[in-house]
Amino acid sequence: MTQDRMPLLFVGHGSPMNAVEDNAFTRTWQELGERLPRPRAILCISAHFITSGLHAVCLNQPQTIHDFYGFPQKLFDIEYPAPGSPELAQRVVDLLGDQAQLTQDWGLDHGAWSVLRVMYPKADIPVVQLSLDLSKTAKQQMDIGKLLAPLRDEGILILGSGNIVHNLREIRMGQVEPLPFARSFAKAVQSQVLHGNYEGLLHYRDFDGSAPSVNSSEHFVPLLNVLGAANENDTAEEFNHDFVWGSLSMTGYLLSDT
Ligand code: ZN
Repeated sequence: MTQDRMPLLFVGHGSPMNAVEDNAFTRTWQELGERLPRPRAILCISAHFITSGLHAVCLNQPQTIHDFYGFPQKLFDIEYPAPGSPELAQRVVDLLGDQAQLTQDWGLDHGAWSVLRVMYPKADIPVVQLSLDLSKTAKQQMDIGKLLAPLRDEGILILGSGNIVHNLREIRMGQVEPLPFARSFAKAVQSQVLHGNYEGLLHYRDFDGSAPSVNSSEHFVPLLNVLGAANENDTAEEFNHDFVWGSLSMTGYLLSDT
């Protein structure tokens, strides 16, 4: 039996508090978990796992990592006990070639579990994290997605978890309206993605508002990885097109060919 071709997903994860809050963003994540074809396993590329060279986590039971400070105890108490998949980790390394290796030195960081515990609360789908190597060019980041694209036909959901605009130095607590640079940049990204011009994002540094919106690239790069796995048959759907605190975009994209 052939499996459904899996969609691609990029989620704007925002604050770790989304892991425990019932809000418009998390309700959308929950709906996605119910609506998407059930994956055999998930490959998660999170903003919070950064290494030199690419590392795929090869563990039967990855630990839940609480990689943040200053949040309520209830966040530190969360465990997301999804199994790992050494088989998928090895497949990822095989697809990526020399640039990638297996590691046992990670688990699930909050970029992964804050979204996954909402999408898949039963924690019964295996999850493998793949790290980011931020020394790579935008083209090389998209090429990673290209190499991973065959996973879509193997029942694997490729999930990027970051934020398209992420500037913690510019945040304005309580402000819902985006700052002008954030609005400009998010709009430029949106235009490329919704028109299927994924490669247009190779030049994201030229977009209005790019420098303050992507003042460090780790929250943006997972989008490049994910879109690299798209093809001309995919269409993109946008969700959670909102901002929090002026300089944090919650926008996500779902790409599918059905
Ligand atoms: Zn984050």
